[in-house]
Amino acid sequence: MAFNHQCTRCGRKIGYEGLCWMCRAEEERRQVLDWTDEEIEEKVQMLILHAERLDDWRSEEHKTACRLIDFRGIWRPELQRVALAAEAFVIHKLYYHAPADVRDGLIERLNHTENARMASRLMQCLAMQGDDTALSYLYELERHPKPWRKGLYVDPSVYAQIGGWTFDKEGKRRTLNFGRCYPLVREKGGAEEAGGMKRSPVHICYPRKDSCSVCGGKMMDMLTVDGRDERLSFLGVDGIITATCCPNCIMFMESGFSRYTLDGQSTPFSSTSATEEDYLGEEGREGLSANDYVLGDQPVPLFFETESDFVNTIGGFASWVQDAQYVKCPDCGKQMKYLAQLHWQLLNDSYEGTLYIEFCPDCRVASMHHQQT
Ligand SMILES: [Zn+2]
Ligand SMILES: [Zn+2]
Ligand SMILES: [Zn+2]
Repeated sequence: MAFNHQCTRCGRKIGYEGLCWMCRAEEERRQVLDWTDEEIEEKVQMLILHAERLDDWRSEEHKTACRLIDFRGIWRPELQRVALAAEAFVIHKLYYHAPADVRDGLIERLNHTENARMASRLMQCLAMQGDDTALSYLYELERHPKPWRKGLYVDPSVYAQIGGWTFDKEGKRRTLNFGRCYPLVREKGGAEEAGGMKRSPVHICYPRKDSCSVCGGKMMDMLTVDGRDERLSFLGVDGIITATCCPNCIMFMESGFSRYTLDGQSTPFSSTSATEEDYLGEEGREGLSANDYVLGDQPVPLFFETESDFVNTIGGFASWVQDAQYVKCPDCGKQMKYLAQLHWQLLNDSYEGTLYIEFCPDCRVASMHHQQT
């Protein structure tokens, strides 16, 4: 496709007339944010009336339900109840923190199903519900598997991760997600240093002097997050988390790791890469570093943009390209906590996929891994 047009809003080169994909997504998001309370009420009632259509991703109901959750952070017990009754289990985040009767309904169906696919869906919904009874039940399923377990790839404790938590061999909970989410927003010159100080408490793609031992290109602090900023107090980190890797090789690695100190130092210790070629190059690195992303002023709902990939976020839930993946800490062996997602196409038009950044607060290790379709 020839990119012989320009987006009428941002000027990005595109292959057709009108708005580019990013401006279109922004436009749609803005419309959802403009919905009045009455409009939202109307939409919820429409969803309740046609709950059986929720599982059809082409339906207006499916889209509306996702938009209410993603952009407005709206869940309604009445809707969760009718969705359960209609056996609509595809939008598992619909069941996030659902009331006890809905949880019991999910458990009852899990007790009676013999179908692995259905069991998988129900466990995802139960993971989203996520209370202590849901935990005990999934723990019980892990210790005493039902026949359908043979039809699935992973254990219930891995399903629990979809809801942002998991449990260990003793059934003890480990929380993997933060209950707060902030967007990174663009601000002209906002990411530049002022008097040697970084003005935003979050920085992405900050250039470094050390080089990658595999491709020879410069390493990069993909993310620095200063937990001392009031907005980021939910992280519970009294200092700076830095995640460092080679932005070229990370796309060819299972995961990259770095060790950070709270005063802002970071040492990468990544594993092997599948290529020695520096596809990104000096120019590509400079392009990444030239971004003007800063931390947004206001938090957004937890599942913000989990359907599309047009906003980089800190905290909340990731929009996984493939399956949810919580990397195990190379030091203590526990799953790391999900910290941030950076969508490559927002940083460089020629790249696809998402970089997920996680960390182990106990060992002060950060991990980075890449997923794409
Ligand atoms: Zn545009
Ligand atoms: Zn490299
Ligand atoms: Zn650890």
